[in-house]
Amino acid sequence: MPYKSRWEIDIPDTHLASLLLQSPTAPLSKTHKCYLEAARPDTHYFTTHDYRLWSQRFAAGLRKSGLKTGDRVLLFSGNDLFFPVIFMGVIMAGGIFTGANPTFVARELAYQLEDSGATHLICASGSLATGLEAAKQVNFPKNRIYAFDSAIYDGATNPQSGCPYWGDLIASEEEGRAFVWDELNTPALSNRTLALNYSSGTTGRPKGVEITHKNYVANMLQYCFMPTLSPDYEARKERSRWLCFLPMYHAMAQNIFIAAALHRKTPVYIMPKFDFMKMLEYTQTFRITDYILVPPVVVALAKHPAVKQFDLSSVEAVGSGAAPLGREVCEEVEKLWPEGKINIKQGWGMTEATCSVTGWKPDETSTSASVGELNPNCEAQIVAPDGTEITERNARGELWVRAPNVMKGYWRNEKATKETLTADGWLRTGDVAFVDDDGKIHVVDRMKELIKVKGNQVAPAELEALLLEHPAVSDVAVIGITVNNDERPRAYVVLKPGQSATAEDITKFMENKVSVFKRITGGVVFLDAIPKNPSGKILRVKLREQAKEELKGA
Ligand code: AMP
Repeated sequence: MPYKSRWEIDIPDTHLASLLLQSPTAPLSKTHKCYLEAARPDTHYFTTHDYRLWSQRFAAGLRKSGLKTGDRVLLFSGNDLFFPVIFMGVIMAGGIFTGANPTFVARELAYQLEDSGATHLICASGSLATGLEAAKQVNFPKNRIYAFDSAIYDGATNPQSGCPYWGDLIASEEEGRAFVWDELNTPALSNRTLALNYSSGTTGRPKGVEITHKNYVANMLQYCFMPTLSPDYEARKERSRWLCFLPMYHAMAQNIFIAAALHRKTPVYIMPKFDFMKMLEYTQTFRITDYILVPPVVVALAKHPAVKQFDLSSVEAVGSGAAPLGREVCEEVEKLWPEGKINIKQGWGMTEATCSVTGWKPDETSTSASVGELNPNCEAQIVAPDGTEITERNARGELWVRAPNVMKGYWRNEKATKETLTADGWLRTGDVAFVDDDGKIHVVDRMKELIKVKGNQVAPAELEALLLEHPAVSDVAVIGITVNNDERPRAYVVLKPGQSATAEDITKFMENKVSVFKRITGGVVFLDAIPKNPSGKILRVKLREQAKEELKGA
């Protein structure tokens, strides 16, 4: 029998905008600041009322520009006060939002532009050169690239960038107020896709994960549920303030900061990107109450000497997700606060499940690297390689999940969808896990190819295809090695007969072809042959074992 969450909550068939912002015309707060620029919070912020109006104006403008229901809009930008406006405006307009990692090089952006078949590219002004180059690579029309920045907040109309300005897509206030989004109160309509979040899943290159209104509404309510079990929930919610430095293009920040925060009425201070010193400074200044972190930031909190110079006493809860994290480092970080105040809790999730699948009841204490228990309305099972369920506690197998937040499928990729979702709705996660005697889930390994660097996805298949373009390389396999609670891509390379190349040549070759986090920072190892099974599949488990030995000797 699969494991079932202890809780079942009601998940309405509704448009995400209706859940978060009621209706196009319902009175909303003109004083509650939902999003603030961390660098200029006194002057640059949105109240809930203004946020809806800006989103409606953008939705109306998108429609006027020709956007039709189901068209994709790609946003290529770091975090910004207007990021949530673009997300919400696109879905209010009936479009599909897709966000690209702002550190992408042109080739990576071109891939997503082409794969998603976007009709609009909203591109941060500072990244226009990359946007234009990507567009050229896939024949994307230049007049559909919109330069994006927040200067419009101060009334700027069209900064001279050579591209149309995204502000031209913002309709008048009057048109915004009159803009009505579709009512999605039937299962058929709530099954409409609203986002394509890119993920490589268990194998291959990144794919567009189709997230529907139903998925989003479900996951947001699921994520918000466990904190409500705290006896002082209302008081805690009232004083809560969150800081967002995780990238909003990714499922985790998108779901937590753009959706859940708005639902809970928690103000979000938005940072353009991660900056550890600024994170500490803002925590102190804004009295941030909750840390939503990824493992490298937890490690930095444990190790960085500057931490002690800041007043972090406002922090009441610390959570981590996106990648594995050891218990020892959590214990070190917990010492930053008076004993017993902070217990770092891990959650587990994946893009294919909208964002999160597990969490913790507030009155429980984590004493291991467990990721907690299932969110409401989630089921899980541990599965053996032959597809049978493993029912014994503490026995390892692949984690499968079935829940209303599990994606509709991969965008235009039936084959990958069928390989990942079973006919009866189970998501094969590619993670190795076990369930302990207390019903807590432990994610202990990965059988899928995926590498996570600072919480970012790195798909070995993508790096392998590029490495094969090196003139001296005849075969290659990329795996992740673990260093200090983070991962690094390591390449195993077979050279062509008579050819030579050094490890440095190989790493250099990749430098301009991929974003910084995808570079081969875990080393290059030369082999005579890549271990493969008889059908030619790379035996990554073997390479991972080999890497462990190599690291012992390092
Ligand atoms: P993403 O789709 O980018 O969110 O990546 C999802 C993957 O990240 C999961 O399938 C896991 O391999 C990994 N992951 C996420 N959270 C955790 C966690 N708390 N512990 C271990 N691995 C995690």
